[in-house]
Amino acid sequence: MMGPPGSGKGTQGKIVAEALKIPHISTGDIFRQAMSEATPQSEELKALINKGQLVPDSLTNAMVFKRIERSDCIGGYILDGYPRTLSQAEVLDAYLAEKHQNLDYVVMLDVPEETTVDRILNRRFCKSCGGSFNITTNPPKIENICDYCGESLSARDDDNEETVLDRIKVYEKETKPLIEFYESKGIVCSIAGDNSVKEATKEIGKCLGRDI
Ligand SMILES: [Zn+2]
Repeated sequence: MMGPPGSGKGTQGKIVAEALKIPHISTGDIFRQAMSEATPQSEELKALINKGQLVPDSLTNAMVFKRIERSDCIGGYILDGYPRTLSQAEVLDAYLAEKHQNLDYVVMLDVPEETTVDRILNRRFCKSCGGSFNITTNPPKIENICDYCGESLSARDDDNEETVLDRIKVYEKETKPLIEFYESKGIVCSIAGDNSVKEATKEIGKCLGRDI
């Protein structure tokens, strides 16, 4: 599942995974989970993240592969936010080839930049339970209050216009070669991600040949 920041790939990834009863694997979740455990890997990860450094590809790849090897992935899985770079994609490709597996589809959520910027600036989160909302596309029932736990909602510090535009630029630079790599394999489905969540999910289902 690929798409710029604010394209809704996390939301779609979770919906599709649930519908197909397969795990939704995101590097963000893997890192958070690993940091809550006491292993040498988690110490390395904590040190990097605390220093504000990027997690190196070798560590990211190793952690994703460990997750894919778990028994719940036998019937398939959805990768969200990974691979992020061409070098990660090449290592993943080699790893899967060794196991006589491959990626079936790469779903690319295509969303115009103004839409993603708007969506990100309208995001609101609940610090208490992790609930996420959008004041225009997915508003809470009561303004600024979490539907799930009743705590108040807030925007993320780095969801401001300047950092959002930076994040989109980085994404475009990193992702272009990645999309070309998967296009050469003929497995990319482009989905118009600026429709409603429901419509985009339906489109993804069509691309996967599944009724979602
Ligand atoms: Zn909440």
